[in-house]
Amino acid sequence: MTGDVDGRGVREGTAGRDGGALRVFRIPMRTRFRGQTVREGVLIQGPAGWGEFSPFPEYGPAECARWRACAEEAAFTGWPAPLRDRIPVNAIVPAVGPEQAHAMVLRAGCGTVKVKVAEKGQPFAEDLARVGAVRDALGPGGRVRVDANGAWDVATAVARIAELDRFGLEYVEQPCATLEELAAVRRRVGVPIAADESIRRAEDPLRVRAAEAADIAVVKVQPLGGVAAALRVVEACGLPAVVSSAVETSVGLAAGVALAAALPELPYACGLGTLSLLEGDVVADPLVPAGGMLEVRRPAVAEAALERYETESPAWARRFEEAVR
Ligand SMILES: [Mg+2]
Repeated sequence: MTGDVDGRGVREGTAGRDGGALRVFRIPMRTRFRGQTVREGVLIQGPAGWGEFSPFPEYGPAECARWRACAEEAAFTGWPAPLRDRIPVNAIVPAVGPEQAHAMVLRAGCGTVKVKVAEKGQPFAEDLARVGAVRDALGPGGRVRVDANGAWDVATAVARIAELDRFGLEYVEQPCATLEELAAVRRRVGVPIAADESIRRAEDPLRVRAAEAADIAVVKVQPLGGVAAALRVVEACGLPAVVSSAVETSVGLAAGVALAAALPELPYACGLGTLSLLEGDVVADPLVPAGGMLEVRRPAVAEAALERYETESPAWARRFEEAVR
């Protein structure tokens, strides 16, 4: 119980549903992500546990309603029963040189690695060298997926996927920006295509499926409105899902872990090993992978940890209040 949080939430002057206090956090990032150098959001506590509301800055109230629904499900409703107790996760290799990429893979100890490619201003030879180094470090049994973040046009994607596939690709994430382009690439290459940026709202997985734009759906639990809602979306979509984080604290990651644990099928490693992108966390026992696996569990907020990163922000309280359908 943290009814004794010395009126901290009251100090914020705002209360969530059922009078629960809003706890605003602000954690510096070790690596710049989506142009951000800090990760901010709101934590709420209810009878079911802690929930995180941390939409990115560009999202308006209608979009944020689903992120809030996810936090409220975590705090007040709880999650569907898990079907597994460990979740395989991938390591991430950013647009670094081949030696560094090789070392990162060995250090991570994950059997699946996602490699960033098509970095602005980098020649393609660097992508080839990086992916080759990752394959070398992983050995033939490991899985290598690449993520182009929508940077290529169709012809470029087709040519580059063919070249990169000499190292054996598990799939290519978002080679192009639009659904039409993804569908065109998908018709012309044998490597499976995953949609990530194309899935930002609950309706999107169905559009991806209808456009025959991808073989795999990358899903995040906050923008889909919580674990139960995301399960319904994935089922309706019919594509295998890779659960990915929105770079949350362990409180938000736990909701993603709960989704991955409740999916009937989980054929791919998930993108939930992202806590290391943050400088710190709000729990005492963070959700970090060991041996490429995340335990299915739900760490509670530790006051001492949260106090390090807690901040006053009427803007975040307002954002939470305005996040309505
Ligand atoms: Mg991606």
